[in-house]
Amino acid sequence: MADLNNFTIDGLKCLAREGTSIIDAARQNDQFIPTLCNLEGVPPKGACRVCTVRVNGKLMTACTAKISQGMEIENQTEELNEMRKSIVEMLFVEGNHFCPSCEKSGECELQALAYRFEMTVPRYPYFYPKRNIDASHPRIVKDHNRCILCKRCVRAIKDEKGRSIFAFLDRGFETRIYLDPDLAGQLTEERARKAVEVCPVGAIMPRGEGFKTPIGRRKYDRHPIGSDM
Ligand code: SF4
Repeated sequence: MADLNNFTIDGLKCLAREGTSIIDAARQNDQFIPTLCNLEGVPPKGACRVCTVRVNGKLMTACTAKISQGMEIENQTEELNEMRKSIVEMLFVEGNHFCPSCEKSGECELQALAYRFEMTVPRYPYFYPKRNIDASHPRIVKDHNRCILCKRCVRAIKDEKGRSIFAFLDRGFETRIYLDPDLAGQLTEERARKAVEVCPVGAIMPRGEGFKTPIGRRKYDRHPIGSDM
């Protein structure tokens, strides 16, 4: 078909429609490219850089770069996985991620990637930032200690007018996720559930419930991330 492009991922012949992002094209061809900020069906951001691949020898983020005819993509290489591992380590030291006491444990994509890349102790010193936990909303708890600033919640959770209910406040090291007081009321039960679901870590959690699924029986406890491709 005219609009289908041939390309390879790690030497494997693949096919996808022209204009498809590399990460979506990889999914369509059952190839796993790790990511933390990308979410299928939501505009890409290129924020976390975990999906970086080599395209015809050049480093590119697979969520923002598009497929073209004859592309040669390197994905599961030692070099790229080492870079991804170092990003995961940086995210761990930049926040306060205490997996054993986190309700998202076993369903957290950051933790799952740390396992995948066999992270033990991060090579960087811990920052131990002082950040608060905001439980002022009746439906969710925001834990700023765990936010990796992927912007998934900002991009995915909108009201009926298409306005983002979540936003970023402040800049640099002080950046934190913010629930606009004027739009906080738009965070219905359904949207709150979705916000919890789209957050890759335990930074947005539902109020009033916990440990519904026992540790050991959660998503990534049963199937390590990327093992279904
Ligand atoms: S709250 Fe969760 S989804 Fe939102 S930016 Fe932080 S880590 Fe990402």
